[in-house]
Amino acid sequence: MKTTNHGTPDEFTLLELARRFPDEATALAYFETLRWPDGVQCVHCGNADASRLGKRTHNAEAKVRAGLWECGACGKQFRSTIGTIFEDSHIPMNKWLIAWYLICGAKKGISAMQLKRHLWGDKGSYKSAWFMAHRIRHAMADPAFIAKLSGTVEIDETYVGGKTRIEYKDGRMTKAMDNKTPVVSLVERDGTKRSMVMERVNSANLRAAIVEHTAEDARTMTDDSRLYSRLNEVREHHPVNHSKKQYALRKNGVLISTNTVESSFALIKRSIVGAFHHVSKKHLGRYLVEADFKWNHRKISDGERMVKGLRKTGGKRLTYKPLTRK
Ligand SMILES: [Zn+2]
Repeated sequence: MKTTNHGTPDEFTLLELARRFPDEATALAYFETLRWPDGVQCVHCGNADASRLGKRTHNAEAKVRAGLWECGACGKQFRSTIGTIFEDSHIPMNKWLIAWYLICGAKKGISAMQLKRHLWGDKGSYKSAWFMAHRIRHAMADPAFIAKLSGTVEIDETYVGGKTRIEYKDGRMTKAMDNKTPVVSLVERDGTKRSMVMERVNSANLRAAIVEHTAEDARTMTDDSRLYSRLNEVREHHPVNHSKKQYALRKNGVLISTNTVESSFALIKRSIVGAFHHVSKKHLGRYLVEADFKWNHRKISDGERMVKGLRKTGGKRLTYKPLTRK
């Protein structure tokens, strides 16, 4: 009979997470193994000699915080949170791990209000939960210089946020889209996805984004919108004729469709309607990062996804002021 199976990170459940990391010290010890897989390293001088690194014993009365290290080489102190999204946070790491798990596990997103209730109950601070969620999204982002998308890449644009208003103009009913933000996604079939906010959706901007994010020999697929009519000048291009109710066709054994990118949009829209309600243009980019991260890691468990995210927290900072500046 197994009596001590507390799960490896990829098998984490919420219960295991709470049981294995009941306090800040245990949670930080775990985070240290992710931040420094080859052993603890001083963030000030780079010293990685274990014999010259000592962990201070957590002592609240003497104001020694959990996870505090002292470097024998430079004499300075540090914690594993320095230079990560957790730096300066007063929220203990065990709560951060729970927040990561909840966000990584919520297919359609989780609202800051819900996160607050899970972590602190009704008395918690909405502001803290909201800021936590945005720092987590910030960490999920990929660096700007990652590899270009290749193979078959489906591209489409959509409008998210706000509500579609019906306006009467010159006696005619029109759909007002001004409070919605255009989003463009590029999705490798069976691969990764990249989404972006595009201030103005036009042929030139779409073309620039496609050239920037796809390999030269990528095979692009889009709907038959005029926006893509000259895409074949820069990339192999296969439009699907949506206006003729054609959604997928096979040409020389290749499936021409934009079904993958469209189903990824459906997921974004459901999370924005369901969990995030109103998402301002200013923060939309970060919600897209979260949606892309989940899509790109959709075939693994919630725990594995959490670990993937935690490994990306280094070198990322997001402070409250610029986040809330109008
Ligand atoms: Zn040092």
